[in-house]
Amino acid sequence: MKNNFILVLNCGSSSLKFSLINPENGETLLSGLAERLLSEQAIIKIKHNGKKEQQSISSPFDHQAAIQCLVTHLSEHQLIACISAIGHRVVHGGETYYQPTLINTDVKATIEKLARLAPLHNPANLTGISAAEAAFPTLPQVAIFDTAFHQAMPEKAFIYGIPYKLYKEHGIRRYGFHGTSHYFVAQQAAKMLHKPLEQCSFISAHLGNGCSVAAIKDGKSVDTSLGMTPLEGVMMGTRSGDVDPGIIFHLVNQLNYTVEEVDTMLNKQSGLLGVSQLSNDCRTIETAYLEDNNPQAALALDVFCYRIAKSIASFTASLTQLDGIIFTGGIGENSDIIREKILSQLILLNFKIDVDANITNRFGKSGRITLEGSRAALVIATNEEWVIAEQTFELLNQEP
Ligand code: ADP
Repeated sequence: MKNNFILVLNCGSSSLKFSLINPENGETLLSGLAERLLSEQAIIKIKHNGKKEQQSISSPFDHQAAIQCLVTHLSEHQLIACISAIGHRVVHGGETYYQPTLINTDVKATIEKLARLAPLHNPANLTGISAAEAAFPTLPQVAIFDTAFHQAMPEKAFIYGIPYKLYKEHGIRRYGFHGTSHYFVAQQAAKMLHKPLEQCSFISAHLGNGCSVAAIKDGKSVDTSLGMTPLEGVMMGTRSGDVDPGIIFHLVNQLNYTVEEVDTMLNKQSGLLGVSQLSNDCRTIETAYLEDNNPQAALALDVFCYRIAKSIASFTASLTQLDGIIFTGGIGENSDIIREKILSQLILLNFKIDVDANITNRFGKSGRITLEGSRAALVIATNEEWVIAEQTFELLNQEP
């Protein structure tokens, strides 16, 4: 077996996703998830050779212990030797990191400093880096930042209409997230249209639990809907997306909410969950809408789709041509209902849905879902892990 596989790690506060990937063709040798970390219920699930294994993680139930389980599995199957490097997904690179970066002590210190912008994510990413360094002390570790693709945004797109010194002194600006996914699907869309990415302009909609829309001009991100935090923009699974900021003062001053309660409400109790009053899961809402005619489910789907359509339409202001729009993420890749609803709001952009193609392009199948002669809308299954593997490999194999 070749020894150029990349182990891709995506570390959350109580989870760790991993895949062992061939960077040249995206082949995934092994993948899995450790979850409920830092609790006695911590488990690791590993998918390898078409088989799924699950086992408990022993004390201290942490990321380090999860990586040890993974290392044991890898060595039992003689896979350690085929790993050439570790690629880490790191959420916030601020303005410092716009490229894949070889991790060293200074880089770790900067990721830690940037935790003030991503207090939930960057510390978890650092935990993963430390655990991987301990487990693979001789392998290079590379950080791929979720904000990096959007660092190409012009100032007019990333400055908020608030006092400029808040940007200069505290870094309060729009950064955007899901960059690796938007980049991957734009690259795939360009291939589908047989054009170089540098000559393509797209609007991509990454619709999963978190959702964002990005305007991509000549292959570069020029605007995106997520902001300084992943709360801005379109409505999501449990996050509100844009609201009138005055609502926050109203809740605090008139309705006696604490700031923590407002935070929880906007991040965890809003979006599809808040409007439907049923679930944050799009499948549950679609079932309630289709089978029970549930009015709250219908409303949640309407608000969700209308807001995404408005966001897509608004991003035409950032472009001079539009080769097509792209749907990706769990909802974008699978929900024909959501795609149809969004496209039907965008009649002025000349999308004519191909009903059969909209139904068949699901569950990992990518393709065009609008009729020839109308504007292209493409469904593309995202693969952030492959981008992380590819960029890690390229960084380590650059010509000096
Ligand atoms: P995350 O942002 O956590 O990575 P995903 O990209 O996996 O999330 O997306 C999760 C969302 O995708 C959920 O709302 C889920 O209901 C939705 N989803 C997955 N499959 C389908 C489907 N067949 N139809 C509609 N929605 C789906």
